[in-house]
Amino acid sequence: MAYQIAIDGPAGAGKSTIAKKLAKKLEYIYVDTGAMYRAMALYFIRNHIAASDKKEIEAACQKVEIEIAYKNGEQQVLLNGENVTGFIRTEEVGKMTSAISVYPAVRQKLVELQRTLAAKNNVIMDGRDIGTCVLPQAQLKIYLTASAEARAERRHKELVEKGGNPVLEEIKKDIEERDFRDMNREISPLKQAEDAIFLDTSHMGIEEVVEAIIKLKR
Ligand code: C5P
Repeated sequence: MAYQIAIDGPAGAGKSTIAKKLAKKLEYIYVDTGAMYRAMALYFIRNHIAASDKKEIEAACQKVEIEIAYKNGEQQVLLNGENVTGFIRTEEVGKMTSAISVYPAVRQKLVELQRTLAAKNNVIMDGRDIGTCVLPQAQLKIYLTASAEARAERRHKELVEKGGNPVLEEIKKDIEERDFRDMNREISPLKQAEDAIFLDTSHMGIEEVVEAIIKLKR
């Protein structure tokens, strides 16, 4: 049976950075489920469908095809055949994503794809509901978190490095709002699975976290 590692946690906890490094070391496939929700959100933005319009969203779900591919070991996300990996990391898409990921029609579609990927490969999958809903049988589950301050500072640093001029307080507010929505939605809210290991990375370096998880796998 394929080995499954589930990493869940709030925005900016370092899930994708850690999961990518782990996947490389272990030669597993990394599945970034947030990217799938982001690609769906991009479709709604492009087609002027409001996050509040449940009917339109449900109808649109029939027309959206999300696929995952790998290029030089990096996950690519395809939206109706178009590689949209470069368009999904904006704050606008991030906000829309957390607003539309509350709908069962959106989740059902993506969870199915995620389970198919995990059935065929050894995977490290990160998201919000991997340990609790998508892969309840995962052999190793990690709940990765950090304080809102630490997460906002990391995001701030990242944006400054990209040449932006972000306001730390605004980033923190956005992160807290997104966490609140993700933790309080009706279906598949972000929460620690009972059998997940809690890791607070506020004061940990990336390599330290990677090593800690590898030790847990042994
Ligand atoms: O991880 P990332 O920040 O890319 O996720 C964007 C948004 O997608 C999250 O804020 C959350 O609302 C949604 N998401 C989800 N379930 C997942 C992964 C992401 O609801 N498994």
